[in-house]
Amino acid sequence: MILSPRGNLELRRKHSKPVVARIMNQYAFQTISACPFCPKTGLSNITVIGTCDRYGFPVRLAMCNRTGIIFLLDRLALEDYNEFYKQGHYREVLDVFWDRQPLKKTGEEQLSTNAIKKAKETVNALHGLVKFPNQARMLDIGGSTGEVSIAFKDAFGVLPTVLDPAEQELDIARQQGLDTRLGSFETVEFAPDEKYDIVLLHQTIEHIYNLQNTMERIRGILEPGGLFIFDFLDFIDELDASGSVEAVSRLDHCHWIYLEMLEVFLSFVGFRALSTIRSRANFFLVVCESIETNPDVCIEDEIRLRLIRGFASRQVQFLSRPKIESFSITERFKQRLGIKVSPF
Ligand SMILES: [Zn+2]
Repeated sequence: MILSPRGNLELRRKHSKPVVARIMNQYAFQTISACPFCPKTGLSNITVIGTCDRYGFPVRLAMCNRTGIIFLLDRLALEDYNEFYKQGHYREVLDVFWDRQPLKKTGEEQLSTNAIKKAKETVNALHGLVKFPNQARMLDIGGSTGEVSIAFKDAFGVLPTVLDPAEQELDIARQQGLDTRLGSFETVEFAPDEKYDIVLLHQTIEHIYNLQNTMERIRGILEPGGLFIFDFLDFIDELDASGSVEAVSRLDHCHWIYLEMLEVFLSFVGFRALSTIRSRANFFLVVCESIETNPDVCIEDEIRLRLIRGFASRQVQFLSRPKIESFSITERFKQRLGIKVSPF
């Protein structure tokens, strides 16, 4: 079926509506009291850029006028997010949104194949660019079933530990011979002498609840000269692909990073990029070393204003596209027969 980006989003939201309604009843939503990076100024220096996420959760998305970070203004409490992942609600809402079969046993294998492919892409992107010390100790935060750790181990000879809050996924990592640790990075305790040469955040940074605190903790467990490696799904790339802020925003992404603010973000949290690599579609992989934090760093006004105007004009364009209801039965028949329906 050929749908406009708007029609596409509406159709997907139709699929997810019952699940969204159930989740809405199950968890309490709260509005945060301050920008995650500006506790002193509260919410006085932000711009609200979206009022709903792609699934249909009425959570607002905002941009910090100082750092440019994009964050969910309304979200779940930390313990509710933990339940949301633990109970499988995260996967459930993804599956209904994409109208695909829920992950059963074969699904786990599928998930794993997909994860292996992504892990290989990440490792390939790093080849020749980074020199890892021999037998480097690596912490793989949110490492799930361990595919990325295995890829790093095979390619660079590192010694990985997989940290993840999902017990079942960690079992699979353990069965693959990996060192594992159950827990969420935001709450797990580290001994003062527990240090790592590499800390890896693969496909995780957007899901982190307290990003500033997490960055501080990562700095705290890195050996001197250690590397922090993470990837991020570029917000602006996602916007280009889907057409509007609300088609990008999602309940489980508490924060969004994008290339225009990467340097400001890193400097603010005390890192410097050594390599920034386009690793996959819409993803960037960043290798960093830790430096002094710079709390005074700001995104340029010109960049910020250009982005905010861009979000608004995209939304207008998006809403001018046909809704799903604008397809007549004749048009649907034509589509079934493969005849292109104008004017999309
Ligand atoms: Zn802020």
